This record gives sequence, structure tokens and C-alpha cells, in this order.
Amino acid sequence: MTRKFFAAVALGLLTSGTALAGWNSGGGELFKDGLNPWFIQNTKTVSACIEVDTDHFHYADGTDLKRDYIDKVLAYWKGQFAGQRVNSEFPTWPRTATQRFEFGPCTDETEVRFQFGVLSPAQLKQFDRRGQDPRDFLSLAVRTDYDRVSLRGKGFVYIAPDSGPLKPYSSDIIDRPWSANGGIRLVKVLAHEVGHIFGVAHTSSGPDDGALDELMSAQYPEAIVRKRFADDSFIVRPDIPPFFTEDLEATSGSCVIGDDVHFSQRVRQFLVLPPEFNCIWFKRKDGIIDVFGSKYADGSAGRQRLGTITLNDQKAYIRAENPIHMWLPPEQTIVHVPEGYVLNVGPDRVAWSDLATYEDVSHSVRRSVHVTVFPGTQSISAEGITDSGRLFYLFETSMPKARKH
Ligand SMILES: [Zn+2]
Repeated sequence: MTRKFFAAVALGLLTSGTALAGWNSGGGELFKDGLNPWFIQNTKTVSACIEVDTDHFHYADGTDLKRDYIDKVLAYWKGQFAGQRVNSEFPTWPRTATQRFEFGPCTDETEVRFQFGVLSPAQLKQFDRRGQDPRDFLSLAVRTDYDRVSLRGKGFVYIAPDSGPLKPYSSDIIDRPWSANGGIRLVKVLAHEVGHIFGVAHTSSGPDDGALDELMSAQYPEAIVRKRFADDSFIVRPDIPPFFTEDLEATSGSCVIGDDVHFSQRVRQFLVLPPEFNCIWFKRKDGIIDVFGSKYADGSAGRQRLGTITLNDQKAYIRAENPIHMWLPPEQTIVHVPEGYVLNVGPDRVAWSDLATYEDVSHSVRRSVHVTVFPGTQSISAEGITDSGRLFYLFETSMPKARKH
């Protein structure tokens, strides 16, 4: 079941923008300035506008597209980037998400258009010229212009309508995704696309590619609207998950025991996993990770608590990565650094590990484990520690996730 679904993802029934060659749409062109933030600190204000097709784009009653979605998402990213500092050695080092967005009517000069269910005739023509069908897309952030001197871009964010001629083809989308659950899906998909405006490319901070629950993974927007994930915690939780920092409220897990029987037996014994369970799920809150078992990958046959992993709270920081890179065009006049064309922008994301103790529900076993937590996602990996002090692989997960087979 799981495999089938992820195969469908790989075929790209829906994409969030990577396939639009020529337009820069975040995660697409891995060269030159294609992934640059659309604006850096020399741009103080950005002109923006909103277009909505109210006949075909339905959002939650009583909510306002600017106040409850766009402003919320812009504030989210400003908060995420708050950790970026002015580099005292190189004060012109690029910073992103520093701009004030000023909303007005949509004109040819508008720098960022937020288009809810709307594509202009010229944009439709662009799809056509590329042999693309807009109904293959759920959401997009497309940079249409970039001034290589002032490092200032222009473009649009598009969120597909839930009905009408531009409604996505996929039948695996819940009804009225943007108004369901008070609009939480619209906030999250918009946060993903606006992340591209600020230069955040597609990531997978987990041990494997394809953590569907991670905000900036390529599959995130489509995972958010899938029928099969409709009740999953990464969707129904109201807040946008943190991008740079760890997620203290992570409440999910994954089916992590695969087809490898030998591996499974070892993990089974270590965690005291009853034979009827094939999957392990996790629910993390601060330093406690509750471990659950379930029969099926989707948890449909019910989950049963197996035990608890308690972190020792002596974190070791093991890896810092910076997912935002900026390529400096030779003609630019804004950033003055001695050398180098590719610069890191924004705060680092830091993974950490900790020693921990696993105890099963019956308190019959207490075992030492080594846990690694990846920032910005619920992704956790763990190794068991045997009595003789050897480490062996237990699991690595985020939920739900495209497993490699
Ligand atoms: Zn994307």
C-alpha cells in the first residue's frame, strides 16, 4: 500500500513547481542565480498584490487571505530568519526575509503576486509553451524576473483552485482542501511557496530523501492535501512546523520495520515488539518519545503503546547545514565580500544526538539507545546499544516518508 502510493508520487501526479524549466520555481535550476532569494536586505519594501477566483477557490469562512494566510506566513519566515545576524566582518553579507510587503492593486510593476486559483492569460501561455498543464500543479512560486545588479526579483505564488477549469487532475486530493480544518492546509502550502521567495530550496533533512512532513521537502504541498494523510498529525496541527530549529511538538512516527526479516527480528527483540506489529510509530514531546506499534503502515488497525524513550538531555551537536545558498552574479553591486560566488544565507540547521533509555510498557526491559534528531522535522534516527557497548541500527524515520526499496 505504502509502496504504491509513493510510486504515484514519483510519477509526479502533482508537483510543487520543480518541473517548470525556464521559470525559476524553487528547487528547479541548480545553477547560477536560479535559487537566490528574490530579495536581500537592500530591498526594504516589496510591492505585493492578491488575486483570487472566488468562484473556484474556496477558503475558510471568516478568514482573510491577507491577514490569516499571507501575513501569517510572512511573519513565520521573518521569525525563522530572526537568527541571521549582520556579519560584522562583511556587513553586506546577504540576509533574507527582511522586507516589508506593501499590498496594493496588481499592476505590471507589482513584485510579488499572490494568485489564489488565478493564472493570467500570459502565464497560461507560458505553461503551454513548455508543454505543461497547469492542472498538474497544486502550488508554485515562480520568479519571472531577476535584476542581477540590484539582486531584486519579481514573480508570483500560485495556489490551485479546488474547482473549475484549473482544478488539479489528481483524484487523491480531499474535497475543498483550502477551507477544510479552518484553512490549515492553505497556511502550510503557502508557507512552503513563500519559503522559495526567501531562497529556501527543497530539502530533506532526514536520513532519507522524501520526508513528506517536512515543510520544504518537494513533496510537502501535495502530501498536505492527500486524502490518505487527512487525519495525520503533521496536517491537523494548527501551526507551521519550524524550519531551522527542532520541532518540540512533533507527534508522529512511521512504519519503520521493513521486509528485512533478520533486521526486524533484531529490532523486535530490542524493543520487545509483539509479532503482530510490523510498524513503529513515535510521538515526541520535549525529551520523551512514546513508542507505539501497529499492524499496518497506515496505522489503521490501531496503535498500541510499546514503551518510552527518555532522552538524557545531554545533547551533542553533530551536524550543521545551511540550506540557503546565494550565487552572486558578477554584475551585482550590493554584496561586497573578498571572494567566492556562492554564499550561505540565513541561520544553520543543526542536528543533535543524545543518549537515551528505552523502557517497555511492562517495565521488563531497559535499554540504552542513541538518538539523533534532525531539525525542522520530526525525523528521528536511533541506534540500539548492546550490553557489550556495541551500537546497531534500530530505525530512522519521519512520517510519512518515501522509503527506498
Ligand atoms: Zn517547492
